[in-house]
Amino acid sequence: MSKIAISSGHSTKCQGASDILNEVAEATRVVDRVAEYLRMAHVEVETFHDTVSTSQNENLNRIVDWHNSKTRDLDISVHFNAYQHTSKPMGTEVLYVTQSSLASKVSAAICEEHDLPNRGAKYRSDLFFLNSTEEPAILLEIVFVDSSADASEYRENFDSICMAIAESVSGVEIDDKPVPPEPPEPEEPPELTDQNRVEITGSTTGDVAVIINGTLVRGEKRCLNTIRMNIKMIGDVTVSINGEEFNNKPPVVLEGPLSEEDQDAIKKIANGSAIADYSWRDRGTAPSGYTAGVSLTFANVYRKLLMDHVPSIEMSQARDANNSKDVFNVYKSKYESLGLSNETSGPDTLVNLFALLLGLGMRESSGKHCCGRDMSADNVTSDTCEAGAWQTSYNAHSFSSSFDQLFNEYSEGAEDDDPQGFLDVYEQGVSCSSSDWSCYGSGNGYEHQEMSKRQPAYAAEVAAITLRNRSDHYGPINRQEAELRKEAVDLFKEIVAYFEGKTAPSA
Ligand SMILES: [Zn+2]
Repeated sequence: MSKIAISSGHSTKCQGASDILNEVAEATRVVDRVAEYLRMAHVEVETFHDTVSTSQNENLNRIVDWHNSKTRDLDISVHFNAYQHTSKPMGTEVLYVTQSSLASKVSAAICEEHDLPNRGAKYRSDLFFLNSTEEPAILLEIVFVDSSADASEYRENFDSICMAIAESVSGVEIDDKPVPPEPPEPEEPPELTDQNRVEITGSTTGDVAVIINGTLVRGEKRCLNTIRMNIKMIGDVTVSINGEEFNNKPPVVLEGPLSEEDQDAIKKIANGSAIADYSWRDRGTAPSGYTAGVSLTFANVYRKLLMDHVPSIEMSQARDANNSKDVFNVYKSKYESLGLSNETSGPDTLVNLFALLLGLGMRESSGKHCCGRDMSADNVTSDTCEAGAWQTSYNAHSFSSSFDQLFNEYSEGAEDDDPQGFLDVYEQGVSCSSSDWSCYGSGNGYEHQEMSKRQPAYAAEVAAITLRNRSDHYGPINRQEAELRKEAVDLFKEIVAYFEGKTAPSA
């Protein structure tokens, strides 16, 4: 490898993950140190850190443009992973599209230097950096910022990790071993100017603490969300950031992902249900993963409802008599004919909503998560382009801030592992062509299409929100073609019962 271009992920003004470690600060240190080692090995190297971009799109484009402006043989992007605050060792992984063997080699080399799991090389077809750089590329996820085991192994072995990266990417052995430098100092936070100052005011009652870690930046909404994630509020406290109020309910309230055990039980319930074998009108039986995928999505929404997650509460509200576009008004007589009521907020209403959601996805796409836009329609701008099993376009976000909340929560997960998207389940029995996967336009509208297809649970949740606010977005609802089946209601009730511990999963 004769010439390498290496950059840190994210930007100082639109931060990445931050917990025990700050992703941007540490990625910057790794890039600089790896470059020093490469120069020692007489490998040509150029480095880049984005200190300008204030949004994720601007940042991704700036980084990729920099790489593509260089003459080089390899592109490297340095990131740190995030999942949930833990003391457990999480480890290192290296993401690739074409560079499978280099990615395994680099991941293994880093893991020689620390006592953490080697998560290895991972194929990722959904990352802008890997897809848009024109030379062979890899993306390093050094360790997890939110694992204390990872943070201490990383700090202890910072230098040898950087040297291992330099040696494994260049194939050159660095025999000129340098004197070990002093243990790394935590980075000084960047100086605050009026440009990046954020006004935070708070009010509290009782014993409270407000802990702020990470760097405060001003930016667009998704950056504000990052700031919000970096403020840990304990006790009864309300904080206002630039006039927007947040209380101590955490923005992402899932206490960890749905466990393997729960997932297996729910899949078993779904696959054994009468609705899994039902032949939907004009569409036939659902793809084998569809019913189970929607069931897992429902299970998480139900869990989030119990934890006061705002979008889940909104989905579970009683019928809104004042909104003729609430699907519970449009389908009122159909629910009544099955003896179902949506007059009380809570899990029963959520069950009824998901039963119709199941029928709507079959009608819109035959349960195909990768479904692109309707080629006969001319909805081709980023915001009007329909995508995913429910064919929801991004412009539906303007009807409810819960849509935006889900967008932010799932897009935080999009970069790292996102077990809650359930692509691995929804994709069973579905075949996707390359034109299915292609998305249109740019910005949030583009990201919405990508997320709808690659995190089908996101598509299901935003469709559930849209059904409650503007169900006229969906032609099959207006024409009452989406089927509401009692067997679907029974399925979701059984999942609720599973969680309530009233019935054990069928053996
Ligand atoms: Zn990152």
